Amino acid sequence: MRFRLLCIILAAGLIPLYTGMKITQSSHWKRCYDSRLESMREQGTSLAGQIAQNGYLQQQLQPEVTAQLQTLAAMLNGRIMLINGSLVTVKDTADREQGKTMISEEAICAMRGEIKTYYNETEGVAEMVLPIILGASADSTGQVIGVMVLESSLADVLTEQEVFRDNMSVLFFSTALVLLVVALGLSGGMTKPLHTLADGIEQVTENLDSTQVIEAGSFSEVRQIGDAVGRMMERMAATEKSRQEFVSNVSHELKTPLTAIKVLSDSLILEPDVPIEMYREFITDINAEIDREAQIVNDLLALVKLDKTAGELNIAEVNINELLEVILKRLKPLALKRGIEMVFESYRTVLAEVDQVKISLVFTNLIENAIKYNRDGGRVMVSLNADHKYFYVKVEDTGVGIPEEEQGLVFDRFYRVDKARSRETGGTGLGLSITKSAVQMHKGSVKVQSIPGVGSIFTVRIPLSFVLTVQ
Ligand code: ADP
Repeated sequence: MRFRLLCIILAAGLIPLYTGMKITQSSHWKRCYDSRLESMREQGTSLAGQIAQNGYLQQQLQPEVTAQLQTLAAMLNGRIMLINGSLVTVKDTADREQGKTMISEEAICAMRGEIKTYYNETEGVAEMVLPIILGASADSTGQVIGVMVLESSLADVLTEQEVFRDNMSVLFFSTALVLLVVALGLSGGMTKPLHTLADGIEQVTENLDSTQVIEAGSFSEVRQIGDAVGRMMERMAATEKSRQEFVSNVSHELKTPLTAIKVLSDSLILEPDVPIEMYREFITDINAEIDREAQIVNDLLALVKLDKTAGELNIAEVNINELLEVILKRLKPLALKRGIEMVFESYRTVLAEVDQVKISLVFTNLIENAIKYNRDGGRVMVSLNADHKYFYVKVEDTGVGIPEEEQGLVFDRFYRVDKARSRETGGTGLGLSITKSAVQMHKGSVKVQSIPGVGSIFTVRIPLSFVLTVQ
């Protein structure tokens, strides 16, 4: 990236500079060349007119004409030749072609009345061949009686061009140097925060430490990436922590009944002549521990299944009043055993789009808990209400309640307020987390309010119509 940035900055600075230099140079050359041709044409045409008018071409050249030709040749820093109608050179200021016949394309064109110009690159000379016309007026083109050849050296312009080129080269290379230094600094400054960010991410990844701050320098965009990566790491660390906690909780929970079974069976094996009553009692305890182990495994399976089938809900329109009545009827014997009264209050008929099996699990868990954690002879009140968007189920009990600081934790897997009591009632600490998962799958919410010693209220809110959000 740094190399690319360097190239882009250099190209962005140098290409326009080079193009600008080339344009200035060529326009300077064109301006000088054109103005030289213009002055050749002006002076040449005027002299040619004089020569024609005075009939100098037909007779011996007067010394003043020769002098005029010499002066113009000197002024042009070149040479002038006069060629008569028979294409014989009658005067050459350089004395080279005098008396020779000049048959060139330009001379022939000029004899036809045309003015020809061209640039002799090898010698650096601008040449102009113009006709000498006799009797030209407004209504007559006149007669071409000869040709004047003017040559002008452009050495001075070429020297100027060379100086210009040298100056431009110095400007070009010094600009390139300055740009290189600036580009190096700039590209380094821009890529450094990215390197720092990459190093930071590398370090955090190596140490798997979500609390470590990722250094990202002063660019706000890079800092945003750093913050986003930091948040991602935090979430990953939280997920990893909860995974580890879950695994250790599962192992612990599964081991507890096994340890009890092992102790009980060991005492039976090691004790010689165990009385039959003690044998019966221990076997009954072992049987209870096996039931408990089975219950934990069942709850775990239910939980895993909920996780796996998220988004695979079996949605249908369900009459919630009827569903709650069926659940209450099923749990009635459990309540009766402890003299607990169960009341169902429904404000209206509620039809909702839910997964019947999973929603049954939610209310069964809540009502079962309201019975389990109630006092003997207590009350469980279940109420159902709805507005235009949601339906609400409230499960209220007169039980032991939950201390305020633990109310947020009861939905965690394996969390139990009173381990001994929960064990007595056959609880695994998974019921409320199963409830919460199932409610969340329906885009609903579950809340608890509780006063220790007075009772608890669990409120579930679920949308009446199910909208599957595509993830
Ligand atoms: P468990 O299988 O232990 O009942 P849950 O996940 O259903 O597990 O509940 C977690 C804990 O929350 C329980 O162990 C209990 O301490 C507490 N709890 C749940 N419901 C009630 C309630 N209605 N009243 C008092 N405590 C409750």
